[in-house]
Amino acid sequence: MTAHSADHTSKAGFETRAIHAGYEPDPTTGAVIAPIYATSTYKQDGVGGLRGGYEYSRSANPTRTALEGALAALEEGERAFAFASGLAAEDALVRALCRPGEHAVIPDDAYGGTFRLFDKVEQVWGLAHSPAAVSDVDAVRAAIRPGETRLVWVETPTNPLLNVGDVEALAAVAHDAGALLVVDNTFASPYLQQPLTLGADVVVHSTTKYVGGHSDVVGGALVVRDLEVAERLAFHQNAMGAVPGPFDSFLTHRGLKTLAVRMERHCDNAERIVDFLAADDRVSQVVYPGLEDHPGHAVAAKQMKRFGGMVSFRVAGGEQQALAVCERAQVFTLAESLGGIESLIEHPGRMTHASVAGTDLEVPADLVRLSVGIETVDDLLADLDRALG
Ligand SMILES: *Cc1c(COP(=O)(O)O)cnc(C)c1O
Repeated sequence: MTAHSADHTSKAGFETRAIHAGYEPDPTTGAVIAPIYATSTYKQDGVGGLRGGYEYSRSANPTRTALEGALAALEEGERAFAFASGLAAEDALVRALCRPGEHAVIPDDAYGGTFRLFDKVEQVWGLAHSPAAVSDVDAVRAAIRPGETRLVWVETPTNPLLNVGDVEALAAVAHDAGALLVVDNTFASPYLQQPLTLGADVVVHSTTKYVGGHSDVVGGALVVRDLEVAERLAFHQNAMGAVPGPFDSFLTHRGLKTLAVRMERHCDNAERIVDFLAADDRVSQVVYPGLEDHPGHAVAAKQMKRFGGMVSFRVAGGEQQALAVCERAQVFTLAESLGGIESLIEHPGRMTHASVAGTDLEVPADLVRLSVGIETVDDLLADLDRALG
């Protein structure tokens, strides 16, 4: 097992890579699954005589190495780096690649925690930022400050309005300005979209969501294709120290192995729910990139395998009715977060997006967001029918 490398399975199909990349059965015991290496340090064979490059578990741990190898193979990157959370990954990325006095373009509807990181942490450290709509290539180009912009940061689809950014076009805009394109691929997961193959330089994940997939572990990851960028990230991952422990790495890797089958079922169920909601007059609008009337449909169809498990809709009865729908649902659990096997429902205006009320990022008060799980779809449909009242 060599640290972090994508291995011989890198040319295999996605499902094969998800299950085999990053780990060979342990030579000593034959363990088929990467063990949880609950160790902080490693015996050296003479001073500096490391076995497989392991000296201290902040720097590297074999359970984490296996996860990182699998993530690199699935995103078709050269190296992947696992972190204790998505936001820890983002902070390490920003401080590895930017310097005080530089600038980043971020989505005008960025994930709230990402916006807060740029606005309240990186800005104090000296990095300026400008918001732009990811769906508007010209707006992103206009937000770039020539000579100062180091990162163009995109999410696609975004949360909760599922706006879509054209990764290929945005990579060209970033590269023209000498900047790197960062894509937060949390909503699509590597199964539905591989931004590095479309020209992005860095992929960010909150592995807490679809990658882990079981709502039982918090984590993050960065995947890159350039080895020089990889070296800087490797240095910062160790120097800043926000790494996941071996138990968290194990859980995330265990979840990742079934990503393909889970995503297919998330998409199947989401499509059935979208059809149901679109035909129901208690619903005034359904927001899903798979719908032809969604403004990002053509770009999503070009760069995504399917359209994902996130669905938002507006309730015809207004805000009070939207709140009531969230509270009446029983199979859908009323909770924040997303990407797990269980279906979740939430009211973005009062929950995930409460902190942006009164700003440009404010979301409609009658909006409900679903993270569609992999339960029996008829039970989900019956639950929504009941919840709509
Ligand atoms: C959850 C999330 C994050 C932050 O990840 P954490 O694991 O919660 O730190 C970043 N981006 C997106 C799109 C997310 O959904």
